Amino acid sequence: MNQRPARLFARIGEARPAAAPRVVLGRAVVLGASVAGLLAARVLADHAQSVLILDRDEVGPGAEPRPGVPQGTQMHVLLPAGREQIERLFPGFSRQALAEGASLASADARRSYHDGRRKVRGSDVDMIAASRPFLEDLVRRRTLELPNVTVARGRATGLECDATAVTGVRYADDTGPAVAPADFVVDATGRSSRLGDWLEQAGWERPPLRRLAINLNYATALFRRTEANPTPNAVLAGCSAEAGGDVAGAGLSAIEGDRWIVMLGGYGDCRPGRDADDLIRRCREDFPPEFGRVVRNELIGEVRTYRQADSRRRDFHRLTRVPGGLVAVGDAVASFNPIYGQGMSSAALHAACLSAYLRSGADPRGPARGFFALQQVIVDAAWGMSTSADLARPSVSAPRPRGYRLSRWASNEIVRASISDPVTARRFDAVVEMRRHPSTLASPAVLARAVRVNRSHR
Ligand SMILES: Cc1cc2nc3c(=O)[nH]c(=O)nc-3n(C[C@H](O)[C@H](O)[C@H](O)COP(=O)(O)OP(=O)(O)OC[C@H]3O[C@@H](n4cnc5c(N)ncnc54)[C@H](O)[C@@H]3O)c2cc1C
Repeated sequence: MNQRPARLFARIGEARPAAAPRVVLGRAVVLGASVAGLLAARVLADHAQSVLILDRDEVGPGAEPRPGVPQGTQMHVLLPAGREQIERLFPGFSRQALAEGASLASADARRSYHDGRRKVRGSDVDMIAASRPFLEDLVRRRTLELPNVTVARGRATGLECDATAVTGVRYADDTGPAVAPADFVVDATGRSSRLGDWLEQAGWERPPLRRLAINLNYATALFRRTEANPTPNAVLAGCSAEAGGDVAGAGLSAIEGDRWIVMLGGYGDCRPGRDADDLIRRCREDFPPEFGRVVRNELIGEVRTYRQADSRRRDFHRLTRVPGGLVAVGDAVASFNPIYGQGMSSAALHAACLSAYLRSGADPRGPARGFFALQQVIVDAAWGMSTSADLARPSVSAPRPRGYRLSRWASNEIVRASISDPVTARRFDAVVEMRRHPSTLASPAVLARAVRVNRSHR
């Protein structure tokens, strides 16, 4: 087992905001006012005299889906690692979320199934459940309370650089094209980021792009909730490739506004559609009874679908020539199969990397190699988890890496043991929740225990 990434991963997860903020920058500009951009802006507020966030959307107060974040209509789970980081950046965040209507999905109130079998409890960490727009709105309000952070509407169109570093951002707003001078720029424009094009246009290198075609289909619906504190209030029903083929699974949770959110997912030709009767029927017939109970309630609005063609990552850590004062965070760097719920928590851990980097004493106007090296640890962990599971799906066709069959066998053993063995379940959940590095599951002792458990059940 390679200890180094696991140790670094643990250290990043522990990263705390500076006790005394150290201002080392004049103006920082963050592109994108979604979760990743807002969390980066929060970190930069400790290190820059002023932080300007630019977004192509008008991002006012309010927890409604918006055009720049089309996935906002779909069910989102905030993993414990993400919640911990957000709580560190905004003390009292969870309490405030609950006071404003989010649900406490405590370990006792959550339930998980794997291929129809109810799993033992692994994690003992509380989660909060809310819609994606609700979470973003709260993060945005907390960020914009900071005296040196402002947000403006503007569509970023390119970078201004001198011979060594970025000096500004080109953007367009209602009045036409303009340039925002910057000592530090963060790209948080999401999975369709054009930073690679902008770097090339400015004479620098484009980060190598890796893609895994997954063709994932989501359908999400909202239902009225009449019970204030239902148990369970969050249920996940995962389907393995071995048993479910291209059916990814289903999820539900109680969210703000006395509502339930219910999601179905599938790969390739397994496409839950917009037909509400079909979604309700599938919930009743194909998934555990909790799903059937929730869809008896009144449907609110329409079923919303979303298709994600691929998981993708941009390897900034491999660039040999990169301008100083520039980083990228969130989906702009890596956007994974959403079924594993890693996106917002990855963004929060990228913010922790940025905090560690800016506190390290590195020259913030130099190439941010120290940042990209830390971030790579987070991206590798999430990417490895999601792509190795996706490669097992019948409709995902891509070359399997060397050793894939063995690693797949080992992870299947661990997943199967985690259904009934609380010790394996606890270890497994800590990795799924992004609180531990995946290599913590790769020890011979962990695998031997899983094999023993599975044999005793055969
Ligand atoms: C179907 C689905 C389900 C998901 N479920 C989960 C989940 O359960 N848990 C989880 O943690 N994550 C989930 N994710 C991922 C999650 O949505 C993202 O990881 C998260 O929103 C962080 O993204 P981001 O801030 O990097 O980018 P985005 O949220 O995509 O935001 C990008 C921002 O940049 C702005 N922008 C874009 N271009 C420009 C430009 N040129 N100039 C200015 N502004 C620009 C946009 O308006 C937007 O505000 C899911 C994703 C999908 C697709």
